[in-house]
Amino acid sequence: MKKRIVLLSSIMIIALFFVAGCDKKKEEEKPKKTGGYDYLVLVNKKNKLPDDWEEKVSLVTTKNAWNEKIQIETETFEQYKKLKKALAAEGITIELDSVYRSVKEQQKLWDEWSVEKGIDYVTNYVAVPGYSEHHTGLAVDICLKIDGELVYENDDMLKEEEIFAKIHEKLADYGFILRYLKGKDDFTGYSYEPWHLRYVGSVKVAKEIAEKGITLEEYLDSTKK
Ligand SMILES: [Zn+2]
Repeated sequence: MKKRIVLLSSIMIIALFFVAGCDKKKEEEKPKKTGGYDYLVLVNKKNKLPDDWEEKVSLVTTKNAWNEKIQIETETFEQYKKLKKALAAEGITIELDSVYRSVKEQQKLWDEWSVEKGIDYVTNYVAVPGYSEHHTGLAVDICLKIDGELVYENDDMLKEEEIFAKIHEKLADYGFILRYLKGKDDFTGYSYEPWHLRYVGSVKVAKEIAEKGITLEEYLDSTKK
């Protein structure tokens, strides 16, 4: 009888270990959405940032090209560092420009600029607070460093077509997409911006979007059908 109990307990202990082991494995395979936010979130001129986004998003602090403190979504930053390293191996230097902006900061920007430049200007050039993809922490504006000089003005960057072509080729390998494609203003609401990258949380999804040459709007639409 005693022997049997010992044997049974041993089996139970082994079983417990097995279950615990499986649980751990399951946890590692959990989709990232369980972190509380969706890496495929759509924020544009028609789609507002989800109300609970700001309290849920995990941000890290880093520095931009001008050594100013900025914030960026945690996983986006990890992947950005890998992208930057891969590009450096090809002699291309990218730096962070504008990344995360809270709704409050956007409101401040909106208020200041409307006083300074007038309501017409802000309506055309500044995103309405709550409707900027930069609120997600997943959108990254990069700038270039060429021969030790920072190239960050939009017009100057638009001239660097060759460099940007090489950058864009690498994005999907790290889960990024080029968010505002040439000639897709009707879908995105924005003109071509070679510097505005968006992390989508999945290399597979990023590759599909890049291969098809579509926008995030079109991709999300196609997954609904
Ligand atoms: Zn941007």
